[in-house]
Amino acid sequence: MSLYGKTYRGLWRLRAGRTGQEIFGQAAAMVAREHLPADAVTAYQLERLRALLKHAYRQVPFWRDRMDEAGLDPTRIASLEELALLPPLTKEEVRKHGKELVAESYRDGRARANVTGGSTGEPLRFWLDDVQANLSRAAKLRYRRWYGHGFGERVLYLWGAHRDTAVRGLRGWLRRRLRQERWVNAFHLTPEEMSALVKTLNRWRPSLIVAYPSALQAFARFMRQRGLSVYAPQAIECSAEKLWPEQRLEIEAVLQAPVFDVYGSREFGTIAAECPSHEGLHIFNDLHIVEVVHDGHPAQPGEVGEILVTCLTNYAMPFIRYRIGDLGILSGEQCSCGRTLPLFKEVVGRSNAVLSLPDGTVVHGAFFSYFFYHQPGVERYRVRQRAKTSVEVLVQGDHLLTTERLAQMEQELEHRLGGQIQVHCHRVEQIDPLPSGKLGYLLSEVAVDFVNIPSEHKDPRQ
Ligand SMILES: [Zn+2]
Repeated sequence: MSLYGKTYRGLWRLRAGRTGQEIFGQAAAMVAREHLPADAVTAYQLERLRALLKHAYRQVPFWRDRMDEAGLDPTRIASLEELALLPPLTKEEVRKHGKELVAESYRDGRARANVTGGSTGEPLRFWLDDVQANLSRAAKLRYRRWYGHGFGERVLYLWGAHRDTAVRGLRGWLRRRLRQERWVNAFHLTPEEMSALVKTLNRWRPSLIVAYPSALQAFARFMRQRGLSVYAPQAIECSAEKLWPEQRLEIEAVLQAPVFDVYGSREFGTIAAECPSHEGLHIFNDLHIVEVVHDGHPAQPGEVGEILVTCLTNYAMPFIRYRIGDLGILSGEQCSCGRTLPLFKEVVGRSNAVLSLPDGTVVHGAFFSYFFYHQPGVERYRVRQRAKTSVEVLVQGDHLLTTERLAQMEQELEHRLGGQIQVHCHRVEQIDPLPSGKLGYLLSEVAVDFVNIPSEHKDPRQ
């Protein structure tokens, strides 16, 4: 760690007092739990789950009713499996019940309202207290340590969400400077802004770049086309949208630094993150119970399903078996790094980011990512499914993207999708990010339900 980093960390600890101690203490405790044997982790989770359920039963009428209806006695819960007696909590329920879901003893103002953007742009309000906010900060320190980034070292954010990138007044500006953070808006990355970013990176030399993968890929392409090079950071952290293997390769090749994938959400902070072994994303199971459900049952390792999250630490507004809206695949393997935190083989992305075919086949977004990566002239694409039998593909490209190429792509896609669906490719000048700032490669309005409706889903690549 740099001298500035050490000094800043020391001063911050003094200034932040107990909060600072709490954050660093929590991060150290999390690191200590990373190597616990499986039975010790289960015992830890069960103890935390019991405490959370008892609290929710006592303080939130919604949960009391739900547990009574399910016949779940929180004082007697003896295994993690009993959690599945409760039906999953939906976003619609969170929207409908709002503040009723806040625990009674937190309604005096201790819990602060927060809001998620969501990739569909429809905001969702939820409540957190300071303890939970500090735990989220500690979880960030935890995984950043895995790749050698210390608190107080330089971080460049290439980020989209306005509330994150906007600086509030001189104090905000000063705070970011002291914290050694620089923020670049990923929403509209013009060539001029990308040139300025090259200069910033070379002069300021951040230890870490945190970015949306789509924004960083655009930047990597810009650099490659112009034959530019930049100072290589120690690590690159990608989150907030799906990181495709092709994007990772392209970013790593140009920026000459390893990419780490992180999965989290506003409601929960970090849920899982990659370690330097890159064998999947370690699930922070000491903070959350993460389930992957397929056809209403726990998914097998390697099988895609919907992710349900029970946050073990948010007492202000308990989230129990929450349908976060993402699909994931558990690995079932142990990571060679030695950490016993279980692995996601892959976080597939939003549950509307898969294509569903008339025969019930679910096509993973990677199918399109792989297809378009090998098409000359294609810069960006977006696949939109509005009906079960047809799909629209918007393509942004250069002079190599001719009308003939588009027609060939249509044919090839229809063929590869088993002739079940009509494909319409349209060339567009510009594919803009969604209101959330994410690029959204595949958006389907034809819902697939992994939690409620039994059906036969299969991966077309198998
Ligand atoms: Zn690992």
